Amino acid sequence: MSATSLPLVFDAPRRGKPPRHLADMSAEERRAAVVELGEKPFRARQLSHHYFARLNADVAEMTDLPASSRDMLGEKLLPRLLTSVRHLDTDNGTTRKTLWRAHDGTLLESVLMRYPDRATVCISSQAGCGMACPFCATGQGGLQRNLSTAEIVDQVRSAAAMMRDGEIPGGAGRLSNVVFMGMGEPLANYRRVVDAVHRICDPAPEGLGLSQRSVTVSTVGLVPAIRRMTSEGLQVTLAVSLHTPDDELRDTLVPVNNRWKVAEVLEAARGYADQTGRRVSIEYALIRDINDHPWRADLLGKLLHRHLGRFAHVNLIPLNPTPGSKWDASPKPVEREFVRRVQEAGVPCTVRDTRGQEIAAACGQLAAEE
Ligand code: SAH
Repeated sequence: MSATSLPLVFDAPRRGKPPRHLADMSAEERRAAVVELGEKPFRARQLSHHYFARLNADVAEMTDLPASSRDMLGEKLLPRLLTSVRHLDTDNGTTRKTLWRAHDGTLLESVLMRYPDRATVCISSQAGCGMACPFCATGQGGLQRNLSTAEIVDQVRSAAAMMRDGEIPGGAGRLSNVVFMGMGEPLANYRRVVDAVHRICDPAPEGLGLSQRSVTVSTVGLVPAIRRMTSEGLQVTLAVSLHTPDDELRDTLVPVNNRWKVAEVLEAARGYADQTGRRVSIEYALIRDINDHPWRADLLGKLLHRHLGRFAHVNLIPLNPTPGSKWDASPKPVEREFVRRVQEAGVPCTVRDTRGQEIAAACGQLAAEE
């Protein structure tokens, strides 16, 4: 049977392109889109003000728009992209994972973490992930699809609204940081992620007005994409998921290492650091008896010192065990010794706190199972 004659009897969600949304567009494109819909160009700024400055995505509340065109503008430029399926809270309510359903049934997750001095949202750039790292829950299910720019941005807008509305204990506050460390490999969805960075960081009402320096893009090490990002003139923090300094083990922990080796990844990261003057965050999930050996700490320190010099910062992540995995986090004394050795090589090294573990919201646990 040919594809065209297949009857539409499936209830299963069809993976499809999300509808066009204001947050997919630059300010200029928004004006053009509004005019194309037969409206005055200034309506683009009005809509942008609602969405990016007031964090409101519901046209019904945009009473300064004429009733006659409000619904049409909403349908054409502010279609609902993400519906919250549920929230899970932990850490006394200061960590909140949200499960979202996209227009085509695709599921994705984001996590908002409030600290005394900042609030960070960890967002997804893809539904699923194609990088297949064996210790990561998202990697086990494969890639479903890329998220659109607006689907990425809307996770940030929602988090900013939750903070402003005092939905997280601690009173009304402000979202300060964004990390692309949820589901997906951001640099495998390059253009949409870079566009999303602009929407997140451009001053309101063009964008949400966060500082680029408070945005972190984390990658497995797609070397050509790191180089491309180096030429964008951005100031975001680059994080590289290294997980081991030797190619032999990294070939299995981060399969894309079979294509781009440790030294190439670190050289590309160095290029980014030189261009931006920003330290690169080296992510290292510490796994008991797998990559936590003293000699690996020494080699890591040596390599980072050689390739990145003062631009390296190591972020150790105690492994968050994922369902079905035989791997576990390293014992604390092993972790402490690892930190000590890296620091001894002159490279700053800190251990990330592991929030959200019990709601499967910690690093590498996002899997959007329903
Ligand atoms: N694909 C990107 C971003 C998503 S993951 C990347 O790999 O960088 C964000 C971080 O969580 C990465 O450093 C990833 O390696 C790490 N991670 C994945 N699974 C983990 C787990 N089970 N425990 C601890 N960290 C994990």
